[in-house]
Amino acid sequence: MYQVNENGYYGDFGGAYIPEILHQCVENLKNIYLQVLESDSFKQEFDALLRDYVGRPSPLYLSKRLSEKYNAKIYLKREDLNHTGAHKINNTIGQILLARRMGKTRIIAETGAGQHGVATATVCALMNMECVVYMGKTDVERQHANVQKMEMLGATVVPVTSGNMTLKDATNEAIRDWCCHPSDTYYIIGSTVGPHPYPDMVARLQSVISEEIKKQLLEKEGREYPDYLIACVGGGSNAAGTIYHFLNDERVKIVLTEAGGKGIHSGMSAATIQLGKTGILHGARTLVMQDEDGQIEEPYSISAGLDYPGIGPLHANLSTTKRATVFAIDDDEALQAAFELTRLEGIIPALESAHALGVLSKMKFKPEDVVVLTVSGRGDKDLDTYIQHKINH
Ligand SMILES: *Cc1c(COP(=O)(O)O)cnc(C)c1O
Repeated sequence: MYQVNENGYYGDFGGAYIPEILHQCVENLKNIYLQVLESDSFKQEFDALLRDYVGRPSPLYLSKRLSEKYNAKIYLKREDLNHTGAHKINNTIGQILLARRMGKTRIIAETGAGQHGVATATVCALMNMECVVYMGKTDVERQHANVQKMEMLGATVVPVTSGNMTLKDATNEAIRDWCCHPSDTYYIIGSTVGPHPYPDMVARLQSVISEEIKKQLLEKEGREYPDYLIACVGGGSNAAGTIYHFLNDERVKIVLTEAGGKGIHSGMSAATIQLGKTGILHGARTLVMQDEDGQIEEPYSISAGLDYPGIGPLHANLSTTKRATVFAIDDDEALQAAFELTRLEGIIPALESAHALGVLSKMKFKPEDVVVLTVSGRGDKDLDTYIQHKINH
């Protein structure tokens, strides 16, 4: 009942609000994606690449010292160990295989922090396809290492100079490109956002995470389900993957964390679920951070990957129907949680994932509770931020 309906809606959220010129393009995608994703040839190729190229299954690790500290059995789902260092590659591999089956020859993407751009450039190198990545000029300057990676991988990075020169502007530019090249170009969207069928498609491609959690829990705990699932939410893809096969299992409590920035009432946050109002963003009706005139507000988070003014329609519905409990975790809480995991377990998490870890101290677990928390990525990319804040403390 929490899955997308045939019109592309999750409750009141979702749909496809797109320019007329893209109508046929999105319609084609809608008509073909399920058939491709469920075909044997796709499944075989996708599974083989996830295994041999990405390194799946990712481990489900019982974190002993974290468990002791928070008085529950806490397992970490280690997406940080994937090739390229996060969960995003699961999605880009799936979509590029779909693009090839649709006969497309050119790939475009938008990126904010550059993580989705790198994951897209990686699979384009792998599949020998042309790759153009739109990125706000401000982001190009502050995420230079990722720009260099994309260029080394053979992608063309186009700095976008409209608006605030960040993710929203890069997305507009990517949509503009798609409008000009609808027949040969495939647009790889990086999260469970955008017009239907993207949110559903990305959730399905990431659902390998919860498929593995089921098997791994059965092995380790003798039962397929946890008491709690915890994940951070930017657009929502690692969370969607984590919860996908448990959505209708009410024994499983779902806890989502978004970026509280400097505090949700500070005017500097990305707490879309807490602060957002219903609006249209990137082709979907969802919760959006906007002012009274409906202008998108620039989000802020210390973590570039959570710095998004919208939220996937699936997650907007989960929160509105109270299927999921949503917390906003501040910059400081996330930083503290990142240092804690590093010192307790020798794992340096991505700043995004640290927002999931930051909720542990707010929960009231029972000692026998089985908790699965997804570590969406590794912290190498965030080292400068970590070092800077350690010195300041
Ligand atoms: C991009 C990113 C996120 C946020 O994206 P979702 O689609 O919400 O998962 C979270 N963690 C890491 C490591 C990321 O790179």
